[in-house]
Amino acid sequence: MRWLFLFTIISFQSLAQNTTRYYLTADRIFDGDQMHEGWAVIVENDKIIAIGSKEKVKEPGGATKINYPNSTLLPGLIEGHSHLLLYPYNITDWDTQVLKETDSYRTARATVHAKNTLMAGFTTARDLGTEGAGYSDVALKRAINEGIILGPRLMVAGRAIVSTGSYGPKGYDSDQEIMLGAEAADGNNLVKVVRDQIGKGADFIKIYADYRWGLQGEDQPSFTLDELKLINEVTRSSGRVMVCHAKSKEAITRAVLAGAETIEHGDFIDVETGKLMREHNVTFIPTLAAVDMITQYRGWKKGVQPDPANVVNKKKSFKAAMESGVAIGMGGDVGVFPHGENALEMELMVEYGMKPIDVLKAATSVNAKAFHIQNQFGGIKEGMKADLLVVTGDPSKTIGDLKKVKWVMKDGVVVRSEK
Ligand SMILES: [Zn+2]
Repeated sequence: MRWLFLFTIISFQSLAQNTTRYYLTADRIFDGDQMHEGWAVIVENDKIIAIGSKEKVKEPGGATKINYPNSTLLPGLIEGHSHLLLYPYNITDWDTQVLKETDSYRTARATVHAKNTLMAGFTTARDLGTEGAGYSDVALKRAINEGIILGPRLMVAGRAIVSTGSYGPKGYDSDQEIMLGAEAADGNNLVKVVRDQIGKGADFIKIYADYRWGLQGEDQPSFTLDELKLINEVTRSSGRVMVCHAKSKEAITRAVLAGAETIEHGDFIDVETGKLMREHNVTFIPTLAAVDMITQYRGWKKGVQPDPANVVNKKKSFKAAMESGVAIGMGGDVGVFPHGENALEMELMVEYGMKPIDVLKAATSVNAKAFHIQNQFGGIKEGMKADLLVVTGDPSKTIGDLKKVKWVMKDGVVVRSEK
């Protein structure tokens, strides 16, 4: 009894000594749902323990005070669609990155990409496939979790799955087997490949439900509905989810009916497909920035020349998605454009007609719910993990203020602190 008492005192003392506390105030605090003025937040170790008006949430003893002039405090942002193993195609085209660069070289670059992502205030990222770099994303995630390198908390796809014949790189002499940007599988073999990818560290299964392999190079479905159902069944039975690259209406429809959790890109979504997605609780990840930037790499002078057909179409489908009421998350296909410039997608969402406050929700609470991490991330609520971001200005009025990053915390640890 006496020993137990002594033990209790010692552990209480060591706990008190190791406790770190932060008292955060800002002109505005976005909690993942709403903006509040005159509020404060208390962080203890890696958790948010209080949030509310300054009258109610008073400064605790021994706390480090954080306050920047004209600032907004937000939850750490969640990137919904990244490729940390890729970098902009105007520097090195995709085929060259996939075919000529070694996985080790690409991983070395990816460590810098991961750091840039975190420094931009994106404390969590869902990475949608290594595009030929095997399971380097699984290793990257491990190095981040172990504190070896700085980066966002990762959810990774690994190699991703395509149907035979659909995916690139393409256009090489057919006498040779060219390595692909994802793993090809079909029919019953899908069962084995899904399980193999899970065994090698995939947190979810990413499927290319269509690809531009139509007769005219248009997006056509790559898997049958039954194949997608089979993938989903095998994936779900492991406690994971299936997410689908799908642009055409037919592929989106098949993916949704088969049980996909998110639809990536969705270039040809109309109100009808949006409603179908909403009915099945599927979240739409638009990747506006990928289309915008690839079109610019091909020579489009944005703002000078009129919008090309693919940009006009992307704007139209984004509006249709908003009208349908489907949940719209945030994911830009970053990697196509520089890591750390993730907020570009959010600027385009505003440019294409979404209210800034809804864009902030997309990158926090909506993404968190879509990725099943809403109890810990994507909000500033009591008991949630202390992933926080301070920017100058008010991104609910000017979304570009998200790029004025002053301070970033991940898991209760300050990773960026500007004067
Ligand atoms: Zn992608």
